[in-house]
Amino acid sequence: MLTVDEAQTLVLDSVSALPAERMPLLKALGCVLAEPVVAPIPLPPFDNSAMDGFAVIAEDTRGATPETPRALKVIEELPAGRAPQCRVQPGTAARIMTGAPVPAGAEAVVMVEHTRPGLPGEVEVLAAAEAGDNIRPCGEDIAAGEVALAAGLVLGPGELGLAAALGSTQVAVIRPPRAAIVTTGSELVAPGEKLRPGAIYNSNQVAIAGSVLAAGAEISCCRHVADDEAAVAEALAECGDADLIITVGGVSVGDYDFVKTALQRVGEIKFWRLLMKPGKPLAFGHVAGRPLFGLPGNPVSALVTFELLVAPALRKLAGRCQCLPVAIRARLLSDLSHKPPRREYVQALTRRADDGYVVQPHAKRGSAMLTSTVGANSLVVLAEESRGARAGDLVEVIPLAGAGL
Ligand code: AMP
Ligand code: MG
Repeated sequence: MLTVDEAQTLVLDSVSALPAERMPLLKALGCVLAEPVVAPIPLPPFDNSAMDGFAVIAEDTRGATPETPRALKVIEELPAGRAPQCRVQPGTAARIMTGAPVPAGAEAVVMVEHTRPGLPGEVEVLAAAEAGDNIRPCGEDIAAGEVALAAGLVLGPGELGLAAALGSTQVAVIRPPRAAIVTTGSELVAPGEKLRPGAIYNSNQVAIAGSVLAAGAEISCCRHVADDEAAVAEALAECGDADLIITVGGVSVGDYDFVKTALQRVGEIKFWRLLMKPGKPLAFGHVAGRPLFGLPGNPVSALVTFELLVAPALRKLAGRCQCLPVAIRARLLSDLSHKPPRREYVQALTRRADDGYVVQPHAKRGSAMLTSTVGANSLVVLAEESRGARAGDLVEVIPLAGAGL
């Protein structure tokens, strides 16, 4: 049996980033930039005012105070978006709003709070200004020709905003991976349908689909098949436009577990079974060059194995550098038992306290008990050879993707 670390290495070594595509900015949110964005213009593109006020020559305001105001003739009004027509000459000023271009001749902007109306057509300046005051110089944010966004960056709202500020409508990004989901099991009916004796609702379909979306990937198709080897093999062969295939259930040693044999028929298996709890039975292989994960059917096992193996593979396909979950340390709030030899992952709620993180494991631990996931934002990791941990111990915790820890 492989350890989780060995399995993660093997999985990540066998997938690589998808090709780049040009996409409209908003579609690229959360994607990895494939080509740098070079600034075609400086930002800001022209000297502009950082305040509502008056554009002046610094010398004209020397010694200005409320008791000794300096009166200046107002020659022009400049709202944002209007190009100046006049030059500010000694003894004159232009009324200017935030973002408007600074007119020629002006050296500073006196904020409106430091002025008051004077004689008709005049303003009284009540404070001295230094050259450069309240002016945002052309190119102070970025110069033309500079790399604004380097390849490899994950595009968030700020990065997209910068691309737009430079006039881009599209960027070249690694496209989000598409996952196919095939749930298996003759006992399963879709929620909303009548529950016949012996049947249960298919909960993994929506849980795993939600995990795919939370990992920033897309769903290419979502199917359910009965425990029938030919049906499973056919479903796998039909996942043609997926970048990654996920099956759920039917991967253990039961008489009706057909995922492994079906995978052997239409693809190849790289490993099966891991030293982890929950989630020992887990098949990984390839179908027509696409990675396939055969997740166990127990709902908590499916979610945990997704987090540890499928989500990292989706991140690698999406071009991310950091693919594996990053562990933090947290102080345990209640005792946790553990028996070797499998590494165990316990659903838990981690939060910040005054002196670091604290973590409360869920009272329920069964791999079939979905209530153990309610409110959980993280997994406590108990090492293979651990004999458990006590309240107060510092333990390793991995945040769940998209849980907002
Ligand atoms: P399996 O891995 O197919 O042996 O399934 C293990 C357990 O998980 C069984 O109790 C199944 O009924 C249950 N199970 C499998 N698939 C699902 C599913 N899609 N939704 C809910 N429970 C499932
Ligand atoms: Mg089954």
